[in-house]
Amino acid sequence: MSVNTSREVTSKSDATTMLKIRSFINGEFVEPSNGQWLDNYDPAVGEVFSQVADSPREDVDRAVAAASLASREWSRLAIEGRSNWLNKIADGIQERSAELAAAECRDSGKPLKLARDFEIPRAAQNFRFFASLIAGSSTSAHDSPIALNITLAQPWGVGGTISPWNLPLYLFTWKVAPALAAGNCVVAKPSEVTPYTASLLGEICQSVGLPPGVLNIVQGSGGTTGQALVEHPGIRAVSFTGGTATGAKIAAATAPLFKKVSLELGGKNPNIIFADCDFEKMLATTFRSSFQNQGQICLCGSRILVERSIYERFRDAFVSLTERARVGDPLDESSDLGAVVSRPHQQKILAAIERAKQEGGRVLTGGTAVNVPGRCANGWFVAPTIIENLAQSCSTNQQEIFGPVVTLQPFDNEPEALSLANDVPYGLSATVWTSDVNRALRVAEQVQTGVVWVNGWLVRDLRTPFGGMKESGVGREGGLDSLEFWTQKKNICLCRN
Ligand code: NAP
Repeated sequence: MSVNTSREVTSKSDATTMLKIRSFINGEFVEPSNGQWLDNYDPAVGEVFSQVADSPREDVDRAVAAASLASREWSRLAIEGRSNWLNKIADGIQERSAELAAAECRDSGKPLKLARDFEIPRAAQNFRFFASLIAGSSTSAHDSPIALNITLAQPWGVGGTISPWNLPLYLFTWKVAPALAAGNCVVAKPSEVTPYTASLLGEICQSVGLPPGVLNIVQGSGGTTGQALVEHPGIRAVSFTGGTATGAKIAAATAPLFKKVSLELGGKNPNIIFADCDFEKMLATTFRSSFQNQGQICLCGSRILVERSIYERFRDAFVSLTERARVGDPLDESSDLGAVVSRPHQQKILAAIERAKQEGGRVLTGGTAVNVPGRCANGWFVAPTIIENLAQSCSTNQQEIFGPVVTLQPFDNEPEALSLANDVPYGLSATVWTSDVNRALRVAEQVQTGVVWVNGWLVRDLRTPFGGMKESGVGREGGLDSLEFWTQKKNICLCRN
């Protein structure tokens, strides 16, 4: 059955209604062919507010077939044409930005102001950025007396994307936009935990008239829908963002099929603070880099390493600042932190804090769930938590928690700071705070992460390569790296007589 909107509102009773979030395949919103639905929660109130399709393999097959057919035209469209479509989608996101921000907030529990002021604008920017980048792209040629070589960058045909729940539309569009720009049609799977804004993006594609099959959105669980997408022989390139354990499964599933794969995975990022830094700027930014989006950003600096001469000053100021932060209703403009994404995730974070205590950690502030009165009384909130006195080797300092939990560790000198920073399996990002430019460069060059910020955090230029080292991933996204991922090179050698 097909309908022309993503959401059917079904009366459950006289008093309540239930949204149904469907897959978007070949330009239409469709029911899951197996009739299976998953509950989708509003984490701020702890209640189911919608149901999302749990699409079986057959639905992924249909999406791939639609994308494959559409790619014949899409891949041959002039670059200007694709660029125009991307800009139309960006316009559609901007027009519906208030609705998208509200949906993101409801689906994930994040503060409305964060979705409205940062994440939804960035989703529109992702399309605009790749619309303009592709318009300026070129092919290369190598001339010689015996031949002229022309190198083409050709799209794969159908690309697959899988994205996580922490920055739902922001990361979904970060993958889809360059894939489309490069001439691929896409089958995209958002997280089953936060399916809502991807579905609204399907409505936007429909309303701007994007040709059917160019973007297909298959809703469903990772183990069923995601796995079917990854294993599908019609998808030659897969871009994945999510946890390291899932990344390992995807690498194992795709390797025998010789697919091109990009893996953006977890992190345990060091925030290295030297005594000569701009203390006030560092303190304010460190609060953000610790607790923005309830610490559920892969780039959050969850290990704060502080030069011993300012350790106590920093610790006291940071604890005091954190204790003034407001955990509350995500709709309330004064809330600094909203809910964490689900009850299982809340339980996982609280269990990690208990483990930290068993490992000898001293909880300086936080450490518990927060009861937010009123409409959010049954929501899933966690207090921003700071822990000290933990050994480098303990699991709290080695494993990603992905919540509002940070640890403090003092260091005596630069080599020790680097040794602590690098002694983890991950290598996504690092932050360095110092006013000594030579030291900043030395440390930045030696820290084993794909991204290093000096005297700032989460400052992004979309032209730059983004990705992790070690168990934080394989490949880079952003700018020309994204276009390169979504194309394969072909060299045509024209021999001279
Ligand atoms: P996750 O559990 O690995 O899930 C990520 C995505 O993969 C979801 O869409 C999930 O679907 C799907 N999935 C799960 N199992 C699958 C399988 N066997 N085959 C195919 N797809 C599968 O990660 P998450 O909990 O959503 O996100 C948090 C993690 O993402 C953290 O580790 C964080 O650091 C990382 N992250 C990394 C970056 C980066 O750029 N490096 C950015 C953001 C987040 P369901 O949700 O429906 O199960």
